[in-house]
Amino acid sequence: MNLDTPVENLYLVGPARAKILKKLEISTLKDLLFYFPRAHQDLTKITFVKDLKVGEFFNIKAKVLEIKTFRTKVKKLSLTQALVEDESGSIICMWFNQPFLTKAIKPHEIFLFSGKVILEKNRLILQNPIYEREKAEQVHTARLVPIYSLTAQLTQKQLRTIIKTYLDKTPIPDYLPSDILKKERFMGQDQAVKTFHFPPDTAELKLAQNRLAFDEIFQNQVKVLQYKKLKQLKSAYKISPHPWPSLPFELTQSQEQSLADVLSDFGNPYPANRLLEGDVGSGKTIVAALAMWLVAKNGLQAVMLTPTEVLAQQHYQNLRDFFGEEGISAALRTSTHKMEIAKVTFGTHALLEKNIKFDKLALIVIDEQHRFGVEQRSILKQASNAHLLTLSATPIPRTLALTLYGDLDISVLSELPAGRLPIWTKIGTEENRPQAYEFIAKQIEAGRQVFVICPRIEEGDRLGIKSATAEYKKLAEETFPQFKIGLLHGKMKNSEKEKVMQAFKDNQINILVSTSVVEVGVDVPNATVMMIEGAERFGLAQLHQFRGRVSRSTHKSYCFLFTSDPENPRLKAVAENNNGFELAEKDLEIRGSGDLYGTAQSGYGFRIASLSNLKLVERSKQYAEKLLQDDLMLINHPLLAEKIKQLPTVHLE
Ligand code: ADP
Ligand code: MG
Repeated sequence: MNLDTPVENLYLVGPARAKILKKLEISTLKDLLFYFPRAHQDLTKITFVKDLKVGEFFNIKAKVLEIKTFRTKVKKLSLTQALVEDESGSIICMWFNQPFLTKAIKPHEIFLFSGKVILEKNRLILQNPIYEREKAEQVHTARLVPIYSLTAQLTQKQLRTIIKTYLDKTPIPDYLPSDILKKERFMGQDQAVKTFHFPPDTAELKLAQNRLAFDEIFQNQVKVLQYKKLKQLKSAYKISPHPWPSLPFELTQSQEQSLADVLSDFGNPYPANRLLEGDVGSGKTIVAALAMWLVAKNGLQAVMLTPTEVLAQQHYQNLRDFFGEEGISAALRTSTHKMEIAKVTFGTHALLEKNIKFDKLALIVIDEQHRFGVEQRSILKQASNAHLLTLSATPIPRTLALTLYGDLDISVLSELPAGRLPIWTKIGTEENRPQAYEFIAKQIEAGRQVFVICPRIEEGDRLGIKSATAEYKKLAEETFPQFKIGLLHGKMKNSEKEKVMQAFKDNQINILVSTSVVEVGVDVPNATVMMIEGAERFGLAQLHQFRGRVSRSTHKSYCFLFTSDPENPRLKAVAENNNGFELAEKDLEIRGSGDLYGTAQSGYGFRIASLSNLKLVERSKQYAEKLLQDDLMLINHPLLAEKIKQLPTVHLE
């Protein structure tokens, strides 16, 4: 028997129970021993029978005087009763439908019973208690008792017994280098695992938790840093600097800084892996475009991948002339536009198809990085020597940046272009509607344009939820017959979508009614009003993204959040705050969890470590750095290498 033994080979498990354990993702002995409790129940205190109180949960140690099973007259249930006593008094324990108990619990023996005390016919009764014979080490009672997440057909007592039995039998070798163990004065892994399941007291539990939390973070650090260092062993195309072309505006300071970061990446002999992070409207595109420009100037190819067709089209159109004037060919490659790959190519995942051949692909830009799934991995593998620049409007807190995104270098656009006014945002209900429409009419008469976002495409069975199609009709026929109204949603053909977007860009459409397809990236600087219907139906980050579609010029912009739930905390947060980074924190607060940043999707889901522990993260990063410096392939640390192999693959690998 070793840690890789399948659980069905374990005497206490067997094939039938192994199937049940599979549901908990336990297949080997190691999985079983590392299946940690979600909590501990404190049953350390033993109470005298005379001190028991109705309605509370107690733990007693008592001698069994008598036990018998009979059937109830009314419902014909099997009822087992035991009369037990300690030195202070006696009480009856009672169980339903467990007739076998008369075999397990015998008179004269001393047992621990844990259960709730109830009052029945004026007597105190311990109802359905957990029972355990007095032993040198209690497992189920009279201690900090581990509570596990269960599945059907498995009880706490069963799982606890199985885990305890095999914990006692199995030594767990420590993978952690002994110098780290010593320096941190950590518990050994064997002791930590055993203590975390069955702690002698809360102080020891804490020590075990510390050690195991370190393990999680440290292993993650070794994984990402090893990936990063291996990537740095690859060679990259040489990209020399050129003086920048002239632009219609002055770059912000953080745009300048980010470009300097990119230039320094390009000076390295290995491929870069950089994340450019900046709030909506902070001007990420031009930074990426200048990087692409530089690559093309060096006679190499660059691509920009976008999550939607609308966005690919927009980038291509906005930047085609910019590149053209510099004598650089640009192309668009989506499911509807199949232009030949050029020096710079914009496209959707259609760019990832196998038959597409690149010639000296030196830079891959991924726009709205968080919107991509795993499918882009193929192109990244194919072009593993290319520099990678990912753009994201989702802020990443420092601990996450160091852990899940630890393989990336990060540049941040911390300011908006000069002259951007904060977007005036208000929550509105039906009674504000006429006023809002009046305001919209004035804006259009002044030459501006308007977005109206609806939660659905067509009217469904649920009343009251605005659909884009119905809203479009209403606005065109009743509210604003004097204006041009456009409609955009995900079910339209790509060519139709393009036509509408183009018309909106050219200001031939005054009001664009749309579903969430305009959520990311769309850039129409002349639009100044964002009206969101059924706003309570959208997430906080999404609302902020919608709002980011306006205030893309120096015109004052407005956002109306129409809702039937004006007290909604997300809407209030958006109305009160224009800063995406601060809103992300607020979102975290409202949701009370980390799923905003996709820790769950990443597959990492730290179980013990808290990602708020920046010190721990930084410390384990230092250890990981030092270790890999001496032993990149972990040849001298085979157990650690094994652990790393089992972790989910690194971000964008
Ligand atoms: P995002 O970071 O959300 O992708 P964009 O790159 O689409 O933002 O930029 C938003 C708008 O701001 C675009 O119209 C862009 O041309 C403009 N812009 C970008 N940088 C500057 C700047 N330094 N000064 C003025 N306008 C800028
Ligand atoms: Mg963008």
